[in-house]
Amino acid sequence: MRSIAVSLLAVTAIAATPVAEHETLKGFTPESSRAELAWEAKMKAIPEPARMREAMRLLSARPHHVGSPYDKQNAEWIRDQFKSYGWQASIETYDVLFPTPRERLVELVAPTRFVADLDEPAVAGDPTSNQKDEQLPTYNAYSGDGDVTGPLVFVNYGVPADYDELARRGISVKGAIVIAKYGGSWRGIKPKVAAEHGAIGCLIYSDPEDDGYAGGDVFPKGPMRPPQGVQRGSVNDMPTYPGDPATPGIGAVKGARRLALKDIPTLTKIPVLPISYGNAQPLLAALRGSVVPDSWKGGLPITYRFGPGPATVHLKVKSNWDTKTLYNVIARIPGTTEADQWIIRGNHHDAWVNGAEDPISGLVAELEEARALGELLKQGWKPKRTIVYAAWDGEEPGLLGSTEWAEHHADELKRKAVIYINSDTNGRGMLGASGSHTLEHFVNTVAKDIEDPETKLSAWKRNQARRINSGSADDRRDARNREDLRIGALGSGSDYSPFLQHLGIAALNMSYGGEDDGGIYHSIYDDFYWFTHFSDTSFMYGRALAQTMGTAVMRLASAELLPFTFTNLAETAKNYTTELQRLRDTRYDQISETNRSIDEGVYFAVSDPHDPVRAPERRVVPPQFNFAPLLNALDSLTSAAKRYDRAAMSVSSGAMSPQKAATLKSVNQRLVQAERALTSNDGLKGRSWYKHLIYAPGFYTGYGVKTMPAVRESIEQGEWTAVDGEIARVAAALNREATLVSQLAAEISGR
Ligand SMILES: [Zn+2]
Repeated sequence: MRSIAVSLLAVTAIAATPVAEHETLKGFTPESSRAELAWEAKMKAIPEPARMREAMRLLSARPHHVGSPYDKQNAEWIRDQFKSYGWQASIETYDVLFPTPRERLVELVAPTRFVADLDEPAVAGDPTSNQKDEQLPTYNAYSGDGDVTGPLVFVNYGVPADYDELARRGISVKGAIVIAKYGGSWRGIKPKVAAEHGAIGCLIYSDPEDDGYAGGDVFPKGPMRPPQGVQRGSVNDMPTYPGDPATPGIGAVKGARRLALKDIPTLTKIPVLPISYGNAQPLLAALRGSVVPDSWKGGLPITYRFGPGPATVHLKVKSNWDTKTLYNVIARIPGTTEADQWIIRGNHHDAWVNGAEDPISGLVAELEEARALGELLKQGWKPKRTIVYAAWDGEEPGLLGSTEWAEHHADELKRKAVIYINSDTNGRGMLGASGSHTLEHFVNTVAKDIEDPETKLSAWKRNQARRINSGSADDRRDARNREDLRIGALGSGSDYSPFLQHLGIAALNMSYGGEDDGGIYHSIYDDFYWFTHFSDTSFMYGRALAQTMGTAVMRLASAELLPFTFTNLAETAKNYTTELQRLRDTRYDQISETNRSIDEGVYFAVSDPHDPVRAPERRVVPPQFNFAPLLNALDSLTSAAKRYDRAAMSVSSGAMSPQKAATLKSVNQRLVQAERALTSNDGLKGRSWYKHLIYAPGFYTGYGVKTMPAVRESIEQGEWTAVDGEIARVAAALNREATLVSQLAAEISGR
């Protein structure tokens, strides 16, 4: 942890780019660009670190998980804050399935006896860590109920490749309880894959190498995970569908049709519990069998072995399967001339426990943006479009609040939503941005206008420097020569998923971070004491986030032409296609090599007869796939996008005329639908809730994104016969996009 105390004097020196020198903003006329930049400069001066600190102290003062008294109290306070800033604000409720722990037991019953305490102790000096009566015990929400005893097997991160490794050693997890490290995938993948392989229970622990003492001093001396710290979290199968597990695809309003518990497909099939490394060490130390490969070893002072046994574990998990009420805060500033185009911004307010970092660090920035926009309204600012700010409940159990709201209002959102902008946590460091590539250029223009609070460089410049300094050769070339720094694609793990991947609404996710390491994620130690000692202690990066998001929202709300750039999408989609072609070739080479080595007896010859490792399974090599439809669609999209970009430039040259205004009104209405063209009603195979054909969370990675997911996962999983059909579906989506973009280009240029 490298916490730097920033002088408060620096707070007053905001160097917004001088308005007079700024080039005309894309999507604005010279005149409206000047007005916009003047309003943005006013906005950027408003957010105050001291207010964010006080809001965090209040919102994280008590545990505020779904269904807790303080969760509701926070929602009401947030609603009242919005109202006091001059916004319309109300609370929308949904009733959702939210299990809480009733019985939890982890004990080693052989060869020795040890009972895990499953407890995070209070820490002296940390004033909220002792709120035992209100803290949710350590658990994984949506674990199956069960009472099982079996031999223990260590499965590394518990991803599919780890089970291939076990199979080569003749180790089966059938009838066993597996213990997996946190990391390497989203946590819900671990019990899912374990159950697929026949395990009867699953433990997940935080290895000290990943977020404990290997990274620095542990809490409270430092920011890292202490021996008894536990990562809570949901294990509901979100890659199938997020939101209330009982109401897939529809809002969980009063009277909604609900699945019976036994019919819900996304609950884990086996009991699962998260434990600390303090509790995991005696279990792991009692394993025998071969020593694991180096890549599996963690940071505990033990010899890591596979098992199975003789360590035998008794695991018991039972939940209260209750329905709880969610409190989403929804606030609005109605647009003046384009009220039916919505710019939506959100951050969740619920936490696993006190949640100062996750999610309050992002929420306090959102509140300061809202206060700033409210101030501008009083000064006469008139955004064209409607601005909707949300503080979601129930994100932690599985994006419940945002998903239920998005499903409930799906028809209206599909007509009106221009964009959804998300944040979750925030800390010290560089600006991170991911999202729809139609917004890549836009995000770059925003980042160039935001000052990094510590270096006084622009947020964009620091990012560029980092990529030149530590990126690959390709990253370095792009960072130096490409107009825009690349943004990542969105998988899942926060509230953008229902908007982007279910409804096809262009989305962005942004935060600062990377210079404030920590190991308190989803533990009782993620609290005000931790955040104000080890993270963005001055709240200067909280202010930077408010300025970044506020600028993005204002520009989108007032642009004459919505700032989507399709050349960035076309180029990125082209790169994805090249990746997929290479993936096919790499898989061909790997499988051919493995099969050849099997034929040559290589695996038998290198296997240590005293600790034998079998050959991997023989697999069928991939055939050639037909990428032509995709490549043709990309050519169409690329040329349409170029024509569109040229046409869009004309908006920034010359004044507004009544005819130009009428054209832009019509073009904007159709631009709102541009991201929707990339979706398919049928959705992804086996998980039709996910409609977007370019971005999805991986079925076996969880949070990690899979781009062109249906094609990519078919290749990764060796489903060769599915690939050509999936390529054709993506090609059709890109062709729809190309047609729309081409029509819009013609409309703007009056042809
Ligand atoms: Zn969060």
